[in-house]
Amino acid sequence: MSEATATTARQAAGNARRTPERIQFLTDLLSGAIEHSGYGFSTAIEYEPADDSTAYAVIFDRFDIPENATCERCKVRIEPVGPWDVWTATDGSRVCGEPADRHEPVRETWRVDLDTIARGLGIIRNAVMREVPNDGPVPHNKVTGERLYYGGESRKLLMQADRTNGDEGDWDVISALAVLECAIFGAVRYN
Ligand SMILES: [Zn+2]
Repeated sequence: MSEATATTARQAAGNARRTPERIQFLTDLLSGAIEHSGYGFSTAIEYEPADDSTAYAVIFDRFDIPENATCERCKVRIEPVGPWDVWTATDGSRVCGEPADRHEPVRETWRVDLDTIARGLGIIRNAVMREVPNDGPVPHNKVTGERLYYGGESRKLLMQADRTNGDEGDWDVISALAVLECAIFGAVRYN
């Protein structure tokens, strides 16, 4: 089975158990995290915001700049120049390809779909409260033990929305990003 076929099969299996309300709620959270208006860590290189449970994105972490990168197009070693995602090769060139475009590093990417969002919600829902000096009891990842860096009123409202598929509670872009970060990193890394 190809990776794409396996992904589609897994997606179909995940959605078979979901009500339309659940699919809508997860899709809204996915859109909220991907269309983050500059708040978030992710840059989407593919994004399909469908309403029928097949919404997905392929993202990379724009804050995680690879130090010894290879250009995915021309395969030369490249280094970052300044903070604006501009790359230079050892010969000083900043472009390659036909038509010429900026070097693009090979990066770690993640495919994000409704199962990803469901997994992130699960990590937040199943979190265990552990005492942290000065902060008191705060949520930690039940499996890895990491502190989630997401809790309080935001978590309470998100969990109400989780239980009611958005009829009650509330969430904003920061909560949507927390769900995504918990899904792929195990905890909030940036917010
Ligand atoms: Zn290149």
